[in-house]
Amino acid sequence: MGAMRVLRAVFAVVLLIGVGIGLALASYLGPPIFENVWRLPVADGERVVALTFDDGPNPPYTEQILEILEREGVRATFFMTGEHATRHAATARRVLAAGHAIGNHGWDHVFLSSQTVAEVRASLERTDAALRAIGVSEPTFVRAGSLALGFSGARVLRAQARVHVAGTLAANDWTTEPLEPTPPCTSWLEMTCPTRDGDVVTERVLSGVSPGAIIVLHDGHDRLDGADRSATVAAVDRIVPALLEDGYRFVTIPEGLRDGPEGISRMGPKGPISGPPR
Ligand SMILES: [Zn+2]
Repeated sequence: MGAMRVLRAVFAVVLLIGVGIGLALASYLGPPIFENVWRLPVADGERVVALTFDDGPNPPYTEQILEILEREGVRATFFMTGEHATRHAATARRVLAAGHAIGNHGWDHVFLSSQTVAEVRASLERTDAALRAIGVSEPTFVRAGSLALGFSGARVLRAQARVHVAGTLAANDWTTEPLEPTPPCTSWLEMTCPTRDGDVVTERVLSGVSPGAIIVLHDGHDRLDGADRSATVAAVDRIVPALLEDGYRFVTIPEGLRDGPEGISRMGPKGPISGPPR
């Protein structure tokens, strides 16, 4: 009887894990979620890379990053939340004026994967309006909070013919510790542990980068205004010169996806940029 109970418990656990893995896989890989952009298309031998910054604008860190990018002559992409773009409109305008691209990161970073279709649509459209208000002419491309595009998010993006930009390489610099203490990281994969150490962020990016990589960094925090991003700033200060030295060319997301005269609107579910990260 005891053995039976153990068997049943094991079966239940295996079933739960299976369902969990299935849902996670479906969420990332199943149609219509193939429309994720994981990395940029690259020609043979071409060394292109895209720097992306999420959750801002967040003065003064966004400005500090802008200074480094300006000094090095490179352009990046900023995925702003509508809330932060509205609150820090002057900083958002500075990003735009410097020639960087701005993408839609939802209104308040509520994960698009856990929202209904109506909620996703409202969040994106409200953010579009906020981005238009600072001068963005066409905020077409989107990144969901935590890069997780659920079924409702995928449906809305498909209906609106918009691209979801995930990423190749996340340095996990999003934490606000010690402002907002998190328990010690117990993940078996060190890469996935959040960090506020500029050396760690630099090392993660430089050791993981490859041609076509979309690098995910954070100039802001999803909820906390004024989150300390000095570690990310310090990392950017080292990452950009190192990659330039290594022969990399920096592009914005729309530049990197410009695969012909129609630009990113050409990228369909089975376009050349889709598929899991390599
Ligand atoms: Zn985010």
